[in-house]
Amino acid sequence: MIAEEFAREEIVRLGALLHRNELVHGAEGNLSARVGRERIIVTPAGLPKESLHPAQLLAVTAAGELADRQTPAAARLRPSTELPMHLGCYRQRTDVHAVVHAHPPNLVAWSMASEALPAARFPNLGVTAVAERSASAHHRAIAALIGQHDAILLRGHGSLTVARDLATAYALLAALERAAARAHPS
Ligand SMILES: [Zn+2]
Repeated sequence: MIAEEFAREEIVRLGALLHRNELVHGAEGNLSARVGRERIIVTPAGLPKESLHPAQLLAVTAAGELADRQTPAAARLRPSTELPMHLGCYRQRTDVHAVVHAHPPNLVAWSMASEALPAARFPNLGVTAVAERSASAHHRAIAALIGQHDAILLRGHGSLTVARDLATAYALLAALERAAARAHPS
């Protein structure tokens, strides 16, 4: 499990990195960490990732309800609308304590290309079958893959990477996006 104070700092640090490395734009993308059996820290909806403050992150229960002990800075904020996707990962994977969702341009470009990603270079990447439009369709597609994969490419949308800690989930995303950039679809 990750200590809450450290989780808040890491989410802010890696949110800024996501922005700087163009893996998200503006308020896109979201990060979370499990800091207790019933407590998850998650980025708020609508705020850009480049300038978050640790106190602006929200604490939610495993069911996605707002938890006790919010900071005053989070009082008017709401959790990311993509929170259910994160909660699904925590429910299915007790070994996972961090989830990063981003919109990495090269991976998304590959997910839309007719040609498949070279499987040898992406052995652990699960890819959803179709460009799902609804959130619930996304969740079903993720649930089918997350048991076997630490990285999922949501076709036409973005990436989901999970790990024991935030830095590892971020590093996995960054490595996949670098590999996708090198193997750009023709
Ligand atoms: Zn998204």
